[in-house]
Amino acid sequence: MIKSKFLIDKVNDKYFNLKAEKYAVKRYNDDILNGNAEYIELENGLGKAKFELAKAEYQENAEQIKKLSTEVEIYKARIEKLKATLNLAPVKYACNICKDTGYAEGKRCKCYYKYLTQLALESLGVSEPEDADFSSLIQNPKLAKQFKVIKNYADNFPKTQINNLIFSGNVGTGKTELAKCVLTSVKKSDNIALYLTSTELNAIFVKMHTSEVDRNLIFEVLSDADLLIIDDLGTETIYKNVTVEYLLSLVSNRIEKGKHLIITTNLTDKELLQRYNERFTSRILDKSKSLFIPFYSDDFRKLI
Ligand SMILES: [Zn+2]
Repeated sequence: MIKSKFLIDKVNDKYFNLKAEKYAVKRYNDDILNGNAEYIELENGLGKAKFELAKAEYQENAEQIKKLSTEVEIYKARIEKLKATLNLAPVKYACNICKDTGYAEGKRCKCYYKYLTQLALESLGVSEPEDADFSSLIQNPKLAKQFKVIKNYADNFPKTQINNLIFSGNVGTGKTELAKCVLTSVKKSDNIALYLTSTELNAIFVKMHTSEVDRNLIFEVLSDADLLIIDDLGTETIYKNVTVEYLLSLVSNRIEKGKHLIITTNLTDKELLQRYNERFTSRILDKSKSLFIPFYSDDFRKLI
């Protein structure tokens, strides 16, 4: 079974390859720039102006500082203008936040977790669902209120009024489809959104419990996604000492971290309480952190 070192090495390999790609582009561009007499002259001029500016700053010569600052800016602008005419290869980053270094503001960048998550899910045999879009849903007038609340949550993510949404209702009321719309919308932003059916999540819990996978790593991945969607809670098999315990631990950890959670379920709040324990149910139904959204319609799925 795949262990954490394997995953981490794989992510590091990815950054190494991205860096190598960028380095090749830089080498190509440097050759063009260094063969251009005007560019060399401008770079030398910029270097001198920067040196003189540092000197003026040290001497606290306000007049010179002003003059030389302007000079530096003019050089920079001329260099950029020249570069635009030189057919340089564009530098494209897979992640614009960290520029593919894996670090941003002294911390691991989100893309690190994203790659790690992709690899982790891959290794667990879980695939992501297809993209879904709010605009493709034909709204059921009976569920207009629910639709509005959920769309609003997706549009404002992560600055939502409430972090956790529980979609509760009968089969075929469109809960999963709406959850997938939120997933797609959140994934388009710089946030990491993870979608798992409760059965998939339960299978991961079993693997964590039997140490088939690196428990800490998988727990971190599941806890740190900005949005976690657990679809169809209540359809999984309850494994003693695993299902409820791991669910509680994961959900509590996410709530403590202020992470977002969406649960869809065919169960009512009373049925949730019967199936899981009081601690778990009170956590996910805590009104200060969760919004319970009932879906009651004859057959919403027919309309979408
Ligand atoms: Zn990044």
